[in-house]
Amino acid sequence: MSESCLFCRIVRKEIPAKIVLENEHVIAFRDIHPKAPTHVLVVPRTHVATLDAATDARMLGEMQLAAATIARAEGIVEGGYRTVVNCGADAGQTVLHVHLHLLGGRKLRWPPG
Ligand code: AMP
Ligand code: ZN
Repeated sequence: MSESCLFCRIVRKEIPAKIVLENEHVIAFRDIHPKAPTHVLVVPRTHVATLDAATDARMLGEMQLAAATIARAEGIVEGGYRTVVNCGADAGQTVLHVHLHLLGGRKLRWPPG
C-alpha cells in the first residue's frame, strides 16, 4: 500500500468511486472520464506501480478475469470489448498503480492513437 497513491486510496475507500466489482484480488470502478459507454478500471489491491514492475501472474490474471466478468454484467460481450494496460509515458500512463482499462459499448478504433 502507498499512502498517497490515488488508486490505493480508492482501494482503502478513502476516495469515493463507482465500484462495480470487488474480490480479494482486485477492485473495479468506473473511470471518472469515460472514453466509451463502458469504461471501467480494474485495479489490484496491492500497490504495484506499472506492468513493468509486476511479477505476480495470479494478480495479472485476476485483473483480466475480473474484466471479462464485468463485460458480461455490462452486456457488451456480444458487441465486443477491449482491455488495455498503459505502461509508461509513451502509452499515456498517468496513475502509477497498475490498472486495466475495460472499454466497450461502442465501435472501438484500431490501432489506438
Ligand atoms: P492511465 O492514463 O492509463 O494511467 O489511466 C488512468 C485513468 O484513471 C484515466 O482514464 C483517468 O480518467 C482515471 N481516473 C483518474 N482519477 C480517477 C478517479 N478518482 N476515479 C476514477 N478514475 C480516475
Ligand atoms: Zn497504489
